[in-house]
Amino acid sequence: MCRHLAWLGEPRTLAALMLTPTHGLLTQSYQPRRQKNGRLNADGWGVGFHAAGHRTPVRWRSASPLWNDRSFASVAPVLSSRCVLAAVRSATIGMPVEEGATAPFTDGQWLLSHNGRIERSALPPDLAAESTCDSALLAAYVFAIGPDRLGEIVSSLGHKEPAARLNVLVTDGSRILATTWGDTLSYLVDGDGIVVASEPYDDDPRWVDVPDRQLLEVTVQGIIRTDLEI
Ligand code: GLN
Repeated sequence: MCRHLAWLGEPRTLAALMLTPTHGLLTQSYQPRRQKNGRLNADGWGVGFHAAGHRTPVRWRSASPLWNDRSFASVAPVLSSRCVLAAVRSATIGMPVEEGATAPFTDGQWLLSHNGRIERSALPPDLAAESTCDSALLAAYVFAIGPDRLGEIVSSLGHKEPAARLNVLVTDGSRILATTWGDTLSYLVDGDGIVVASEPYDDDPRWVDVPDRQLLEVTVQGIIRTDLEI
């Protein structure tokens, strides 16, 4: 995924998070402001969220551009959640363009999105993933080790493959973990929650940019930032 976003807080609609902000994921799908690799995020989009009274997260994904999805635009204003993870995708060269390659990925508890690239040879060969896409394999690997260890996983993969880019976002409904390893990330503490995004979705001066090679841990109590081991 080339641009991603997560929300934790009071219920907010998918439209308010993804579609209506001036520079939100919808605009970022054709005109991102800070993306370091790729210009257009037209190879698909996805959103996953934790719904009240439902144990596992639900997902809506597509291999088409977000700007073409009129059905989603019609439903998004009435879908809301306390915890959301959404992304728009610019496929890395050689990766399949298909729904299974589109974030968020899930193990039934966590949702995961990856902005970056990794050589598939840096990962174990026997991972059961939804797609042969590097991000789907990375997700299967993170789920197998345990997303709680995201910082450790990203540092060790980054050392194994110095050209890898590993901005990863995961959530289990009660917290968000995010890494910066090769691309941009910002967060905004709003009155009723916290949004973490590849780039600010508006020009609110309260957005904070996260330096490269950090781990961000977000709960309703607040944010903890730590340097990743380099
Ligand atoms: N490598 C991933 C893919 O092909 C993510 C690409 C990206 O971040 N632009 O989907």
